[in-house]
Amino acid sequence: MANFNNSSSKSPSTRTIYFSDTTLRDGEQAPGVAFNREKRIAIAQALDQLGVDEIELGFAASGIEHQRDMASVIESGIKARTRSLARPLESDIRAAAEVGVQMVCLFIALSDMHLKHKLRMSADDATEMIARATASAKEKGFYISIAFEDATRTPSGRFEKVIRRVSEEGADHIGLGDTLGIGTPQSIAELVRTVKQMTDKLVSIHCHDDFGLAVANSLAGVEAGADILSTTVNGIGERAGNAATECCAAAAGVLLGYKTNLDLTKLQTVSRLVSECSGFHVPPNTPIVGANAFRHESGIHVSAMLRNLQCYEAYDPALFGAKREFVLGKTSGRAGLRHFAMAEGVELSDASCDEILERIKDLCDSGAELREADLQRLLRDVSHPNEMANGGE
Ligand code: MN
Repeated sequence: MANFNNSSSKSPSTRTIYFSDTTLRDGEQAPGVAFNREKRIAIAQALDQLGVDEIELGFAASGIEHQRDMASVIESGIKARTRSLARPLESDIRAAAEVGVQMVCLFIALSDMHLKHKLRMSADDATEMIARATASAKEKGFYISIAFEDATRTPSGRFEKVIRRVSEEGADHIGLGDTLGIGTPQSIAELVRTVKQMTDKLVSIHCHDDFGLAVANSLAGVEAGADILSTTVNGIGERAGNAATECCAAAAGVLLGYKTNLDLTKLQTVSRLVSECSGFHVPPNTPIVGANAFRHESGIHVSAMLRNLQCYEAYDPALFGAKREFVLGKTSGRAGLRHFAMAEGVELSDASCDEILERIKDLCDSGAELREADLQRLLRDVSHPNEMANGGE
């Protein structure tokens, strides 16, 4: 596994953004999702193939069966750093040690809301609690991330002391969680900049998607200096989910030009696997991994793309392990139809084109699903014998 370098002062092309995947922990907290041992191993292996730097295998303190499942993932052989979530409690750290993960992510919240209503303690007491837990985890040889839950509702002045304390006790990463998904690109960037000024530790961010901003917020965090993105495949997670690994990876790596340790061509495979294992269908218009993400129907688009693909394609789909497709439908035009007909060995006159397009529109409006066989039949029915370059049937 790559060594993590703190490189936020460098330009994008020389900065590495690390990925800490939590599909098996936060993803499993999505209502209706449960990953049994077999699925956990398959997903972890796929994440390893993708090249994520860390895999959160689960929450060791949640029981002996879960611990066994986590351990069996480690036994299956994982290159990424393995980690468990843990409350700053001795029993949680011990449970993680029993599993055999290399890393613990100790979490605590310092927002007024969580201090008062969940933890029922003062910020100072919470600070000492997480500092003590950090010391204990360090003693047990763990690599340690300290995650501040509800960081977007925490007064930023409160981070200074706690970051100093956990750093003294051996914390390796500082994590910021937008637990409720209420951050905006601007507020997340400001939060990251503030915290980066307090520490030379690597900073990770964990964004939720309650306003559909998880990916944008994660990238704003990266541009403000965050080193590590905590994400889930297909964005599965509590409520509206998390920042999607595939969108963050594609945007960080290709759109913004950061270095990552990911093999982006594996995104389709890992997305499909997590969709199967979670039972969460990926809508066709999902970026990067949706069935329509690289599929083109509109006549104007296809006609232009047949001259130059870049007219309507942001990136070569092959970068993400996907294939470009031209399909015929209600909004198709002559160029797209001719492209399809040529592949079938048929050259069409303008009149035949228009007739077929008319029939395609009728079929689509009737709600019928347009299959390749239907199109081949239309071609045979409408085209004149002299248009069948290969003699037809
Ligand atoms: Mn979360």
